[in-house]
Amino acid sequence: MLSPGSTIGILGGGQLGRMLALAAAPLGYRCHIYTPEGDSVAAEVAASCTVAPWDDCEKLAAFAAECEIITLEFENVPAAPLAPFEAKLAPHPRALTVAQDRLNEKAFVADLGGQPAPWAAVDDAEDLAAALERIGAPGILKTRREGYDGKGQWRIASAHEADGLRLPDQPAIYEGLVRFAHEFSVILVRGRDGAVRFWDSAENHHQDGILATSRLPAAPLIVEQVPAARELAAKVAAALGYVGVLTLEFFATDYGPVFNEMAPRVHNSGHWTIEGAVTSQFENHIRAICGLPLGDTTTTARAVVMTNLIGPAALDAQVVLAEPGAHLHLYGKHEAREGRKMGHVTRITLA
Ligand code: AMP
Repeated sequence: MLSPGSTIGILGGGQLGRMLALAAAPLGYRCHIYTPEGDSVAAEVAASCTVAPWDDCEKLAAFAAECEIITLEFENVPAAPLAPFEAKLAPHPRALTVAQDRLNEKAFVADLGGQPAPWAAVDDAEDLAAALERIGAPGILKTRREGYDGKGQWRIASAHEADGLRLPDQPAIYEGLVRFAHEFSVILVRGRDGAVRFWDSAENHHQDGILATSRLPAAPLIVEQVPAARELAAKVAAALGYVGVLTLEFFATDYGPVFNEMAPRVHNSGHWTIEGAVTSQFENHIRAICGLPLGDTTTTARAVVMTNLIGPAALDAQVVLAEPGAHLHLYGKHEAREGRKMGHVTRITLA
């Protein structure tokens, strides 16, 4: 068990790091943020911060020397420079290697019995033509690495449309479009002893590829498909020897839960757990990586709706504070750019 007063290193300086640092504080830990960007919203609430590129081995070594445990809030941290500090890292960087590449991720999950959308690797126009022939259209072309919030994705309505498409200048994957009824995520926490706990699965709505809302209770079809999705998520966590919070996103379809993607970290669709569950995803992540007993994940409210505040919509968000049961989280970002996650509101209806 990590003793109070110890330092937890967090790779990444965004809002997830901010909420992790806020959850670590009452447990008596200090957080040290490592981020390539100067204006880190996590650093504002942490004890210390290193601003340096991901591949600066000297800065990374100095950071690691100051931290008893290192975790991450951003899954695209390059895994290779982390190798010397592997023993301090939770989750283990092998989770990054799987989750950073959509092709690896799908193959890994399919090997464990999961059902992803039909997919094919696309490195050039010939591959795309072959993928369209085999999988058909409509579908989505996605970069294998570094896409998020719908970025690095192109919808393809027909093989004809694909003819005129300029391919991304990096390896990609073509996926058949899944006709789903709902989207949901399974969020689990796994302790150092292998114990696993799940939060209730919220129903997620996306707008323009970005999560807009997560709500509970979820639609009955989701509730029906959660056990199978949890079974898969637990297998993924065990296969990775995972420690901390892990998220798997699914489509609820007529033919069962279809795996979309995973994130080796706390997740936007779990922000509701701060006020809506006995123990939040952030606190349980800290508990897990520090070797503390895991907290109860039970939902405490009758209904919960988490709404993301995206872009300029966040500027007048404080009005929600007049509503009973509304909890505002602003991330402290100065520029309310279009499509940028600026904060969220969680509305709770008590039992
Ligand atoms: P992703 O970044 O892969 O999570 O994609 C963002 C959103 O695009 C998802 O949450 C879905 O709403 C939609 N999407 C992605 N892939 C597919 C797919 N194969 N079929 C249908 N919708 C998809």
